[in-house]
This record gives sequence, structure tokens and C-alpha cells, in this order.
Amino acid sequence: MTTTAIETVPRGGAWLLEATAPDTLFTPERMTEEHRLILQTAREFTAEVNEHTEQLETKDWDLTRELLRRAGELGLLSVNVPEAYGGLALDKASAAIIAGCLGQCGSFSATYGAHANLAILPIRMYGTEEQKQRYLPSLVTGEIVGAYCLSEAGSGSDALGARARATRQADGSFVLNGEKMWITNGGFADLYIVFAKVDGEHFTAFIVERGFEGVSTGKEEHKMGLHGSSTTPVILQDVRVPADNLLGAVGKGHKVAFNVLNYGRFKLGASTAGGARGAIGEAARYAAGRRQFGQPIASFGAVKHKLGGMVARTYALESMVFRTAGLIDETLEGAAAEDGGAVLRALEEYAVESSILKVEGSETLHEVLDENVQIHGGNGFVRDYPAERHYRDSRVNRIFEGTNEINRLLIPGMLVKRAVKGELPLIPAAKKLQDEVLAPSPAAAPPDGPLDAAASAVGMFRKVGLAVIGLAMQTYGDKLGEQQEVLSFAADVVIDTYAADSAVARARAATQTGAAGAELQADAAASYVDGAAMRVESRARSAFAAMARGDELRTRLAALRRLLKVTPIDDVSVRRRLSEAAVDRGAYPV
Ligand SMILES: Cc1cc2nc3c(=O)[nH]c(=O)nc-3n(C[C@H](O)[C@H](O)[C@H](O)COP(=O)(O)OP(=O)(O)OC[C@H]3O[C@@H](n4cnc5c(N)ncnc54)[C@H](O)[C@@H]3O)c2cc1C
Repeated sequence: MTTTAIETVPRGGAWLLEATAPDTLFTPERMTEEHRLILQTAREFTAEVNEHTEQLETKDWDLTRELLRRAGELGLLSVNVPEAYGGLALDKASAAIIAGCLGQCGSFSATYGAHANLAILPIRMYGTEEQKQRYLPSLVTGEIVGAYCLSEAGSGSDALGARARATRQADGSFVLNGEKMWITNGGFADLYIVFAKVDGEHFTAFIVERGFEGVSTGKEEHKMGLHGSSTTPVILQDVRVPADNLLGAVGKGHKVAFNVLNYGRFKLGASTAGGARGAIGEAARYAAGRRQFGQPIASFGAVKHKLGGMVARTYALESMVFRTAGLIDETLEGAAAEDGGAVLRALEEYAVESSILKVEGSETLHEVLDENVQIHGGNGFVRDYPAERHYRDSRVNRIFEGTNEINRLLIPGMLVKRAVKGELPLIPAAKKLQDEVLAPSPAAAPPDGPLDAAASAVGMFRKVGLAVIGLAMQTYGDKLGEQQEVLSFAADVVIDTYAADSAVARARAATQTGAAGAELQADAAASYVDGAAMRVESRARSAFAAMARGDELRTRLAALRRLLKVTPIDDVSVRRRLSEAAVDRGAYPV
């Protein structure tokens, strides 16, 4: 094993048990000079792509390919690839920066994600030396385009229920038959990562070239959004795949599929944060320019409340994205760039955080884009303005990379698994909390300022999260997996805890270092915590009511009242300040 810093870097999920020291997390304010150069390049490229939106929406795949090659030239496809295969081996913070910019490109963001994450990463992590030498250099230049074929008409969420079959031949090769559905880049990709069951049983990954006889693609799907991204079936009819194109081992396809999805979820968090930042700028500029009743609509309290809320939620999401990128990067410190195993371990370590980013990212973007349409009024509903397209384009984020329902089940599910294995001391912490709740607690000193109050509220969210998960484990034992509603309530508490913790820690770090805009950051964090307190209480009540009755329920609810004493802030004034800053700058203001 390489000497990664996993022993010293906070473990995945540790933030649920311990307070976060503000100086320990990576934030956008801590970007290096190299990160800023990457940001500049990615921003310029995003602007270039967005000049072609209309043409891309006509499904001009030649132009799409040209833009992918341009991305390759600029190094934007090379992030995850070691130099030995033509890559730049950049850190995950750089990956988040690039995804954040391209997240403002709608369709091209999906094209890019399927190529750079879902096609390149499996080869980089599981490919043999020969496969890496053969495919990676032309994938990172964009000369060839990749796609990822996991889903089928009958197996989406239940990906392992795939019916595609690989039959082993006497010479070691395989013959593949089956039909994959909804494949991004399907219509024009040159290379497909395909999952099929060897002898109908062993789920396995293969690298399939478009040129292999028997590979074809179906018609483009008529989609709600992402009209500039190709989505087709991929049909495999007696496709002979050489033994050399087996990716990883026979029967280990689930490892390839799920680890790639972990990374895809982290990246989806980054791209949705970027999309939300862009939409806030759009909404702020429109609100400044649109006049009703003789004044800009930006001057109305109801509009300010929306814009301020959009900023606060996006700030929390962005804080989680950069924090998670920093955790993965720190874990990888000291590992050789070629060490695919170290990358896998790091992604697995922060799989809970990646699922959180997927759910919270897609739902934050959805809310922000919905409010963007609302702020645009009738103009939000017609195609003359981009608000309408963004709204349609973003809807799929809650469906692919594992639906939000599946990810919500995974979040507490993975935490419990780690607790049972002894990797996360969640069980003793839940027991200690139970004793604490029963003992009369001395009155705590009132917090000093708004950020101290917010930090103390996050401490309470942590305890509520532990109380919900602890009671669920106690009530259902090894049948907990069947209790999807309780698991989803627990997931919501955990998501709000990570988001609030990341936002508050980042805002405190900004205050401590006197960073520009620190006051605005404190507002954004405090506003997020204020909303989260209500959601945490409501989810915990629903969970307790599902698990306890009568006196026991009353005792649990009394304990909840003792654990969660959050005084509301004047969120009206706070959101007004956030909104005014966004309108002044005509952009996301942080
Ligand atoms: C535009 C687009 C691009 C895509 N790109 C790709 C791609 O490049 N490669 C690829 O392989 N796939 C791709 N997909 C497929 C996508 O990953 C699947 O659509 C997704 O995984 C959901 O599967 P499904 O559509 O079969 O829905 P289902 O699995 O049928 O789910 C339907 C509903 O039931 C819920 N549900 C299902 N199972 C459970 C459960 N156990 N517990 C609780 N709720 C459950 C789901 O959450 C959902 O709400 C793409 C899809 C779209 C729309």
C-alpha cells in the first residue's frame, strides 16, 4: 500500500461525529495560482462553447467533436490521467473547477462528463498497461470520444440486473449480445465501456470499439432537455470482443461501475454548483433590468428573498464541493500518479460525501433554476431567454448517476455499514448521546456572534443525525435496509449537516483570515443554517414518529427539543443583503 495520508486526513463521515476546525478544510478561497489559471482557461472555454449553444442544440456532432478536441488541446480532458498516458494528473480541486465552469454549458457538460469521467476513468483505474497506452492518449486529446453503457431498458437503478450477455469463446475472446439504453454520446462515440454478464452470470466490464462488427446505435431519444447531447441505445449483436478488451476481471464489473459512479457523483456536485452560480448571475441581471410598478423588480422584498436564498444554498453546496475535493486530494498526497488503487481507495473513502453532493447538487440547481424562471416571469417560460432551457436541461440531474432516491438510501446505508465494521465510531457516539440526553444538561453560554451561533446549531444537527441513525439501528437492526422512508429522513438530516458544517467552517475561515467578502459569506452560512434547522427538525420528527409510539415517542420528541434549540435569525435582512450583493455585481456574489 502506498503511504497516503489516510491516517491523518479526516475519514469519510467523520464530520458527523466531530466539530470541524475552520483551518482544516479546502475552500475556493484557498485556490493556488495553478488553480486560478485552470479556472481562467475553463471560463474562457465555457464562453466559447456557449457561443455555439444554438448550433449544438441542432445535434451537430461534428461541432461537438471539434469542441471536445479543443477541450483536449487546453488540457481539460487530462485531469485524471497520468502524464505517462498524455494526461496532466491534476488534483480533484482542479477537476471541480473545470466541472463548475462547464456546468454552465448544459448539453456540452453532459457530453464532457460522459467522456472525461465515465469513459476515461474506468480505463485509467482498471485498464491494463496495454489498454492505457492504447486508448488514453487519444481520449485525452479528444481525438476519440467515449461513452459508458451500463443502463438497459429493464435495468436502470438495478444496474446489476443487466441482461446483456458475454459468451466466452475457446480463444479467450467474448461474444457480446444485448441492448444498452440512454447512452450519453451514444450516437457518435468511438469507444464504449460496456457492462455485460459473462455466461449470463458474472457482471463484467469491456472496452468495445465502435468499429467492432455488430455494434450499432439506435435513434436519438426525444428528450425534455439536453438537446445538444446525444442519447441513444447501443446495440450489440454478436460482437466479438478480444480478450485484451476485458476491463478489470470477469465478475468484477460492479467495482468498475460503482467506483466510476462515485466519482461521477462528486463531479455532478461540482457541475451543478457551477450551474447554480451562473443562474444566480442571470437572475440578478434580469431582476436589475426588468421594471414593474416603476421600479426594478430587484427592489421588491419577495424577489430579494428568492435571490438571497439561491445564493445561500449555492454557497453551502460550493463549500461542500471544495471541501470534498480537498479531502480526496489530501488522501492522495504522496501516492504515485500512476497508482490507480490509491485513487479507488480515496473515492471509496468519500463515497458518502459524493452521494451527498449528487443529491444536494441536483436539488439545489433545480430550486435555483426554478426560481430563475419565476424571476423571469413570462420571459422565463419562453425560449427567447435561456432560463427555460436551463430548467429543462437540469431535470435529468436528479435521475442519472443513480437517482436521488437511490443515493438517499446509500447515504445512511454506507454510514451504518462503516459503523458496523468499526471504521466509524458511530455506535459509541450514539450511545454516549443517549446518556447525555437523559442527564440534565447545564445551560450553555450564549454564543458570541452569528457564526458562533451557526456553529453551535451545526453541533445540534450532528446530534440529531446521530440520534435518528442510532434509533433506526436499534429499532430495525439488520432489517434497516427495508425502511426506505426512515433512511431517506436520516439522509436529509445528514445532508443538511454536511452542507451546514461546510458552509459555517468556510465562513469562519474567511472571517479569521479577513478574506474579501467574509461578511457576505457569514450571511450565506447563517441563512443556510437557519433553513436547515427547520428541515432537520421536521425530518427528525417524521423519523421518530415512524419508529416510536405513545410515551416513547413523547420522550423522543422532548429529547429532540432539548437537542435542537436553534434561535431563528432575521433571515429577511440577511437574504436582502445577499440579494443586493448579487444584483450589484450582476453575478453570484461570493
Ligand atoms: C439524458 C440521460 C442520459 C443518460 N446517460 C446514461 C449513460 O451515459 N450511461 C448509462 O448507463 N445510463 C445513462 N442514463 C440512464 C440513467 O442512469 C437511468 O435512467 C437511471 O439510472 C434510472 O434508471 P431508470 O431510468 O431505469 O429508472 P428506474 O430504475 O426504473 O427508476 C424509476 C423510479 O423508481 C425509483 N426506484 C427504483 N429502484 C428503487 C429502489 N430500490 N428503491 C426506491 N426507489 C427506487 C427511482 O428512484 C425512480 O424514481 C441516462 C439517462 C438519461 C435520461
